[in-house]
Order: sequence, then structure tokens, then C-alpha cells
Amino acid sequence: MQLIEFTDRGLYCRTGNFYIDPWKPVDKAIITHAHSDHARFGSTSYLCHTHTGPLLKLRLGDITVQSVEWNEKVSMNNVTVSLHPAGHIIGSSQVRVEYNGEVWVISGDYKTENDGISGMFEPVRCNTFISESTFGLPIYNWKPQTEIFENMQQWIKANQQSGKVSVVIAYSLGKAQRVLKCAAAVTDKLFAHGAIWNVHQALVNAGWDLPKIERVTPEMPKDKFKQAVIIAPPSADGTSWMKKFSPYSTGICSGWMQVRGNVRRRNADAGFALSDHADWNGLLSAVKATGAEKVFVTHGFQAAFSRYLNEIGIEAAEVKTEFGGEEEEQEKPSTNEEQDKEINTAGDNE
Ligand SMILES: [Zn+2]
Ligand SMILES: [Zn+2]
Repeated sequence: MQLIEFTDRGLYCRTGNFYIDPWKPVDKAIITHAHSDHARFGSTSYLCHTHTGPLLKLRLGDITVQSVEWNEKVSMNNVTVSLHPAGHIIGSSQVRVEYNGEVWVISGDYKTENDGISGMFEPVRCNTFISESTFGLPIYNWKPQTEIFENMQQWIKANQQSGKVSVVIAYSLGKAQRVLKCAAAVTDKLFAHGAIWNVHQALVNAGWDLPKIERVTPEMPKDKFKQAVIIAPPSADGTSWMKKFSPYSTGICSGWMQVRGNVRRRNADAGFALSDHADWNGLLSAVKATGAEKVFVTHGFQAAFSRYLNEIGIEAAEVKTEFGGEEEEQEKPSTNEEQDKEINTAGDNE
């Protein structure tokens, strides 16, 4: 029997009698982070990091949550569980599970670059590692955050000079907070769509020190947005909600923007390849740092990434899960043809 089994409810530890990020209601759920494909409604009790607690309540309502600190050990039927920073979004954690000297680590979503908000990804030694693979192709190779931020700040200044509002499309939990910090360095005229505002308020109420931002309301006069930066979620992109900012320029923040064809396809004026997921080298270095003898690869480019791991002598297999469906995972070009096109056009990028 594997310490972690792959069941139709999710990743299950039979000995400890708990699930990790289950996609169906269970008795005990350990949650890696508050994105909706990992944190679902209906379980009897939840365990997560203290920073995830308020976000889980925001999204799932009145639930029973036990919050723990990173590295704090919890015993469940003699199975030792602890959470470790995953660097993906605020509170995001890897789950370490130990029983009888055997260690499994479930990554959840992760990124290896320190974004200054989410906590620095911690490599955790284990026998078996379960890794995501959202950007598990060699063409995904992020620039450092400082460089992307400088590009965005220059774009904002250029828009201000040409009398345009800057509308930044960024996922509400994760990238929106990073974009806010980036934009606040060049302007204090900051506005948010309601979806982003709700997350922002939950974080501020939980004690996070974030730059001041105003919620866009229907009553606000158009000239209030002059010179401003508006942060909006992908769902608002191209809707009539954006009309009142006109004239404006749209900048989309997503790892998929690394491929220029996607900037055109999304009809954006600018694309910023800012991601909350590890790029190809990040995934590889994370896997190697665990020292794992066996790797299971979940949501993303599982086939390509697990094949490559096997080629370099790390035993790996694909696992089908129901993760993916929020933030970047959802925006992945859907057909094989589009993915092939991405790979073929990747050389276009400077
Ligand atoms: Zn996520
Ligand atoms: Zn995910």
C-alpha cells in the first residue's frame, strides 16, 4: 500500500485517514492553498497554514479550520504531517507526510523564485515527491521578477504620458497582490475590480500590509481614473465594465504571455510573463532538491515533464487529478494544435 493513494476523491493517506486538496467532500482535508481547484467546499474539517485560513473562509464561507505554522508537526494516527512554504501565493504550502521513516511531499502549486509576499519555497527531502507541472516545458523560462516589474512600471509611465489608463489583468489571488506592489512603486492612483478588492480586504483584515487601493464602483466619475492603474481579473477582460476607463491600454500578466502569439490571441496591448508557478528550470531544480527516488507529476504538461525526468534517471509517472481550473491553469491554450504552435513560435521571443 502506498502511503499516499490516488483515489476518486483525491490524494488519500489511509494510515492517517486524511486527504490532501480533495475534489469531493471528505472528513479531513489538508489544503495546500486557497485556489478553488485545491480548496473545495463540503469537507467536515480543514487543516491549512495560518495565512491560508482567512482566504479559505472568504472562499468557502463558514467552515471548520485548524491553522498551523510552517514546520509545525501534527500527528494523525501516528502519521506526522507538516506544512512547508511553496512560494506560490500567500499561505501556499507543500505537505510533508511521514510514517515509519518514509516521507512523501505533495507540492500543491509552487514557484521557486521569492516574490517577497508568498514565502520562500523550501526544498524538503523526501522519498516520493508529487509535483505540479503547469509550465513543464523547456520554453517556459521566466525573467526575474525585478525585470518584469521594471517593464511594467515603464509601460505604466508611458501610458500616463500618452493619456491612457493602465488596465492590468491579473488573477485575483496571487498575481494581483504582486502587481499592486509593483504599481504602487510608481503611482498612488490605484483601483481594483470587486473580485480583487474582496481578496485585498480579507488580507488587510488579516493584518497584511498592502498598498492602498480603491474599489471601482459604478458611481465613480470617469475622470477619477485619469493617470490611474486598474487591476482587474481575467473574467473582466474585454467586458463592458472596462469601457469607463477609455482610453486605456491592457496588459495581461500570465506565464502564457511568454509566447508572443498569446498576447495577440488575447487582444492585449502588452503581455507580462509573470507567473505564480515554477518555470521549467524551477520545476527541475525543485524535483532534484527533494532527492526523491520517485516523482509523480500532476496537472500541467505531465507527459512531457515525467518523460524528461525518466530520461535523466529520476523515476517518474503521470497522475491524473482534478487540479487545474483556476488562475493560469485555466487559461492554458486548449488544443494540441495551439500548444504545438506555442512550442514552434517560442523562438520568436526576445
Ligand atoms: Zn494555485
Ligand atoms: Zn493548481
